[in-house]
Amino acid sequence: MRPSELTPLFAAADALKGVGPHVMTLLKKALRLPVGVTQPRVIDLLWHVPAGVIDRRAEPTVAAAVPGTIATLKVRILKHRAPPRGNTKAPYKVATADETGPLDLIFFRAERSFVERQLPVGEERYVSGRIERYGETLQMAHPDYIVGPDARDDLPLLEPVYPLTAGLSGKVLLKIERQGLERVPVLPEWQDPAWLKERGWPPFDEALRRIHRPDDAADVSPGSAPLQRLAYDELLANQLALAIVREGFKAQRGRPVTGDGCLRKRIIAALPFDLTNSQRTALEEIEADMGAPRRMLRLLQGDVGSGKTVVALLAMTAAVEAGTQAALMAPTEVLARQHADTIAPLAEAAGLTIALLTGREKGRARGEILKRLASGEIDILIGTHALFQDDVVFRDLSFAVIDEQHRFGVHQRLALQSKGNGGANMLVMTATPIPRTLLMTHYGDLEVSRLTEKPAGRKPIVTRQISVDLIEKLIARIKVQLAEGAQVYWVCPLIESSDVSDLAAAEERHAHLSQVLGGGVGLLHGGMNATAKDATMASFADGNLKVLVATTVIEVGVNVPNANIMVIEHAERFGLAQLHQLRGRVGRGSRESYCMLLYQEPLTKTASERLAMMEETEDGFLIAEKDLELRGGGEVLGARQSGEAEFRIAGGAGFTELLSVAHDDARLILASDPGLKTERGDALRRLLYLFECDEAIRLFRAA
Ligand code: ADP
Ligand code: MG
Repeated sequence: MRPSELTPLFAAADALKGVGPHVMTLLKKALRLPVGVTQPRVIDLLWHVPAGVIDRRAEPTVAAAVPGTIATLKVRILKHRAPPRGNTKAPYKVATADETGPLDLIFFRAERSFVERQLPVGEERYVSGRIERYGETLQMAHPDYIVGPDARDDLPLLEPVYPLTAGLSGKVLLKIERQGLERVPVLPEWQDPAWLKERGWPPFDEALRRIHRPDDAADVSPGSAPLQRLAYDELLANQLALAIVREGFKAQRGRPVTGDGCLRKRIIAALPFDLTNSQRTALEEIEADMGAPRRMLRLLQGDVGSGKTVVALLAMTAAVEAGTQAALMAPTEVLARQHADTIAPLAEAAGLTIALLTGREKGRARGEILKRLASGEIDILIGTHALFQDDVVFRDLSFAVIDEQHRFGVHQRLALQSKGNGGANMLVMTATPIPRTLLMTHYGDLEVSRLTEKPAGRKPIVTRQISVDLIEKLIARIKVQLAEGAQVYWVCPLIESSDVSDLAAAEERHAHLSQVLGGGVGLLHGGMNATAKDATMASFADGNLKVLVATTVIEVGVNVPNANIMVIEHAERFGLAQLHQLRGRVGRGSRESYCMLLYQEPLTKTASERLAMMEETEDGFLIAEKDLELRGGGEVLGARQSGEAEFRIAGGAGFTELLSVAHDDARLILASDPGLKTERGDALRRLLYLFECDEAIRLFRAA
């Protein structure tokens, strides 16, 4: 249960004055809401950090005011001069003065009644805005603020400038932000006092105040003490939540699972290749984990085509040798099916029983699989999200593999894990080489095995960017290649937020290529039903189809070694990691391989850097790092798909150092106070709630 003192912060923002449905819609656009949150809340306002400040502290007399600067002046209203009737271009002028001289306030297209109400003749007002010289007189056009003598405190002398959205003015947002700030309670300190002192960081509530009602412009600049404090709070909450999940996971006694190696030997004998050294090492690491009496959680990282599947299969086989069951989960149906197809002949050679369970297996067929699974007849179950369903019950699951991990969220990982008796060992596989800092933010720590070598016999992939204007030339050259037995993936443009137009583009290209190339062109898209997808994939794999036009459904994992040309249309719309994944579909066979990146001019600078990077290197790690640099962490990890929010304050660059401190801090905290039961522990629980890590913890406890 969230502590009640935090309740006002989690109220919807329309609880604040001046926030109606219209402003809510604008706030929704201007604020970055965490995944799953649809209504802006007070807390979202507090995490909305100003990008800078406008300094209105100069309070000169009129005579001393400097043209071109922003100043706040106290003046008396002398006279209103409306523009001549019918002349909409002339401004409405209000003559004012202090004892040192006159100042004209200028309003273009002014609403007369508004100006009259704001500036009654004979009264005093504070006005704040830019001072200009007009001929001999000083003037201020459209003052940013006009307040009466008793409301001087409403003037933001250091005005925070917030990131806005069209239709939302800085002034309106400022008022709302200030109300939000008033709701911040004084909370017990959760940070180590010595550490705060060393850094010179303020308490939590003061940090928020110094950012949203700054007295000092430096407080709003990146790297300021209050911002660092809040970033560190966020990082600590994240690391603590992960450490709790992780500690709890490790604390659950795993069961040592060790096989005798006889089935693995048969599989290795049936492989048409030798394992690479990295594959061997990874297997040794995985098997050591499985044999140890604690639960395993390991990440297997290997670039596309590095051969993760066979590692997974051998590890699963070890579990079967020990008399238990294993599961392999893939993010898409196509992939799950492909895994099953790859594994089937090898499993048969070893005498293993495998089955496939996806959303497509229904009714009697599904019931049959579930029965065989519960009885233990099935050794290895391969599937999609369908494996999560409650009625999928194993006789004795001891080992679960999740392929392309970043497509799944923590929730799903936990759900599958909980299906094991006493908890299954987990291996997660990903082709995205995740930099250490990102790993830490998303998993806490995690054992990692890496496949660093490519299997023998892989050829480099020639990568070229070409303008889409040259498409007919490209098609002509492909025609020649096809005659020599080549096979082509043709990926169609990704159109954001519109599957329909994605599909239309793919269909159009399909029709065009079919006509020019005279048949042998298939079409694969996300909207097809599973049977049709499989049939198309199979016919491409068999070589009946020469060209496969596809939307990005082929992005992950598809393996057709004979395919040697990858054409990506509108390559400028893809991220680097995605391009790399797509390119990894070719270069798997004996043919010379090509990746053609078609782009539409004009190219932005970033897009052009991306394409150049693709031409330069095939090193997935370099590409991932560059991608990170160009796009930021969450997207690389596919945070949007996996439902894990990005950092809101600690999101920018420059917090890496703090992240490792938070990482160590979290471990120390849990080592001395595993249940968060001390006074500080109690304060830390509030921190977890503030940053909405409560969900992760609750889920873990349930699992
Ligand atoms: P990924 O790591 O991208 O999942 P896969 O497991 O799909 O890669 O493997 C890609 C291809 O490489 C498959 O055809 C697989 O049979 C082959 N392969 C795997 N290991 C080796 C090896 N040691 N030598 C040669 N080919 C291998
Ligand atoms: Mg794979």
